[in-house]
Amino acid sequence: MRDSATAPIDVSAIAFIDLAAQRARIGARMDAAIARVLAHGGFIMGPEVAEVERKLTQRSGAKHVISCSSGTTAIVMALMARDVGRGDAVFLPSFTFTATAEAPAILGATPIFVDVLPDTFDLDPASFERAITVAKQTGLRPACVMPVDLFGQPADYDAIDAIAKQHGIWTLGDAAQSFGAYYKGWALGTCADVTATSFYPSKPLGCYGDGGALFTDDDETAKRLRQVRIHGQGHDRNENVRIGLTGRFDSIQAAVLLEKLAIFDDECNARNAIAARYTAGLKDVVTTPNVRRDCTSVWAQYTVVSPRRDRIAATLQAQNIPTAIHYLKPIHGQPPYRGFPVTPGGLPVTERLSQEVISLPMHPYLTAEAQARVIAAVRAALA
Ligand SMILES: *Cc1c(COP(=O)(O)O)cnc(C)c1O
Repeated sequence: MRDSATAPIDVSAIAFIDLAAQRARIGARMDAAIARVLAHGGFIMGPEVAEVERKLTQRSGAKHVISCSSGTTAIVMALMARDVGRGDAVFLPSFTFTATAEAPAILGATPIFVDVLPDTFDLDPASFERAITVAKQTGLRPACVMPVDLFGQPADYDAIDAIAKQHGIWTLGDAAQSFGAYYKGWALGTCADVTATSFYPSKPLGCYGDGGALFTDDDETAKRLRQVRIHGQGHDRNENVRIGLTGRFDSIQAAVLLEKLAIFDDECNARNAIAARYTAGLKDVVTTPNVRRDCTSVWAQYTVVSPRRDRIAATLQAQNIPTAIHYLKPIHGQPPYRGFPVTPGGLPVTERLSQEVISLPMHPYLTAEAQARVIAAVRAALA
């Protein structure tokens, strides 16, 4: 037992992401919503799934929303619906979660790794443009670019799309971390030809298991996505019109999501206020995240950059404050991906960021007191 008289600072645990605090707020309504699904028994694609797709349509402004079983499945489904496969180049950042690169690789397409911008961590349009040359030189068809809205901030869709359209490339937005954010006033879901998101529990909008969704304004893509979601089914279950998979969303997760959507805007506001406090408290000692003036972020992570990030991690750990490194090892250096091409000029920003980034506790229920402890600890680490 520790003697409290010798422990002047509060070392009680701070959660990196606090789902328990959210449960304390809406747990009773959530339990009732889940109980309704248990009572009606329509576990897969039940009425809650239709309702959540309707709500997500409203929230995003996209013409079509297709819910599905995970964010990774969403990306795979989008590529399948648009017939991406062997011989196709898919351009994407290496500084992202593995799933972004995994999806094209599963389908036999070739991921080509592109660098990111140092201030927003999102895809660098100039690096993307250089990568298109590599694809053509190696006999690949430039097919698709995947801007990733890293840590919750939209990529620069207009700049990326302008280059993509010149080369007949379509855009697949990986909005797994960013659903709810706005790009030039547009909600994510309308900024790329197809947008994929994830409802993994720790994402800004998460369910209590796996889930995801796809957004598009294109009727033909939407039709194909609905087919892919249920094994390529056509008019009925006796007809298969294309190769698909088990991509369906389940009703319990949809019920959870409906309750969370009801407080989502409020939570996004709280995340913004917390991010602003971090930035005010830390901007003179580390590089704080830069949100472009025409964008908002949903702050999936609050990630700072410092050449002394290992010192920050150790100091915070000693004070019982959790941190995380997103991403310690960029994808292009991981064994299964080493054979895939990298954009000319390489990935210097990606390499540096992987050495210098550190993510601090971030969730809508982080109190000002807890946050002051985090800020003080970071400052002490660098003093
Ligand atoms: C979480 C995540 C995914 C995958 O989502 P899952 O629902 O976990 O399959 C894809 N891309 C990015 C950038 C992510 O953060």
